[in-house]
Amino acid sequence: MDFAFHTVAVSGAARAGLLETAHGPVETPTFMPLATTGTVKAMTADAVRETGARIVLGNTYHLMLRPGAERVAAFGGLHRLMDWPGPILTDSGGFQVMSLAKLRTLDRDGVTFQSHLDGSTHRLTPARSVEIQHQLDATISMVLDECTPFPATEEEARRSMELSLRWAARSKEAFRQRPGYGLFGIVQGSVFPELRAASAEALVGIGFDGYAVGGLAVGEGQAAMFAVLDATVPGLPGGAPRYLMGVGTPDDLIGAVQRGIDMFDCVIPTRAGRTARAYTSRGVFNLRNARFADDVGPLDPTCRCPACTRHCCGYLHHLFKAGEMLGPMLLTWHNLTYYHDLMQGLRAAIVAGRLDEHAAALRAGWKTEDAP
Ligand SMILES: [Zn+2]
Repeated sequence: MDFAFHTVAVSGAARAGLLETAHGPVETPTFMPLATTGTVKAMTADAVRETGARIVLGNTYHLMLRPGAERVAAFGGLHRLMDWPGPILTDSGGFQVMSLAKLRTLDRDGVTFQSHLDGSTHRLTPARSVEIQHQLDATISMVLDECTPFPATEEEARRSMELSLRWAARSKEAFRQRPGYGLFGIVQGSVFPELRAASAEALVGIGFDGYAVGGLAVGEGQAAMFAVLDATVPGLPGGAPRYLMGVGTPDDLIGAVQRGIDMFDCVIPTRAGRTARAYTSRGVFNLRNARFADDVGPLDPTCRCPACTRHCCGYLHHLFKAGEMLGPMLLTWHNLTYYHDLMQGLRAAIVAGRLDEHAAALRAGWKTEDAP
């Protein structure tokens, strides 16, 4: 099985696609739940599958420090370890080194840092990051890049983007091709359209199995993020999947799909699920709110998840008030189901040629006055 991406239907810039991998197919657009340390927090692997998710994301930084990439390899790889035979994408570790590690030092060839867990010293280079992702048995590996700080001047953003391009070329050299496995490049360039276009063109010149747009959702705002997509996506090949890293809210996802993005990951649905925030067809709710205490209705009457089909809002409210583990479990299940069905709904609308009407209806639903 070759790593391949097929477009099934288009609607404007949006695509409905099929990603084929060594670990099975993925319909796009798709949302990838975070399995940061080898688990989607508060969910069994079976529960994640029940939400409809077909690809999850593991974090190289966390897994290299604990339990360690060699140990994961000795366990038979991440798929076997976490009972997830489906596709797994791993990030390069670069983002978390910059956001979590202590005493990090960046140089032309990589980054040296101290673990936030025990202070031990580690080094990530493009080749080492790709090697770790190979040890984890990632279906999709990401190149090591520098996450350009925001805000950055155009000169700072250019230097950072050019460093990431050098690292992208080294990552490609280090990547060991296997059937059905892929390596993605990452477009950088902050909010500067000409830098984004130059980054995309250079990455396409190196040649990757897919292309990510990185360095967004860092405080630039939705309008600036969409402007970056408008400047970037036209420079990416139509036959390769496009992945917007770390984004976002349901509204962000709809706008990005309309601009030609196929894949997403974000902490929002899982983190919100653990903190009583529910994403629904009628908007976002905090289930700790006292107005839910006596609510006998379902959280979202259109949702097929166990939180919505077997329980009322009053019970979910009670679980969070009582600090019960089942509250985060049920609400994570719900939020991931909502995100998956949102993507599948957009996919069906692209196929049916009515994406813009569907997007407008979704947005109108979030404003429903009689929300629970
Ligand atoms: Zn639900």
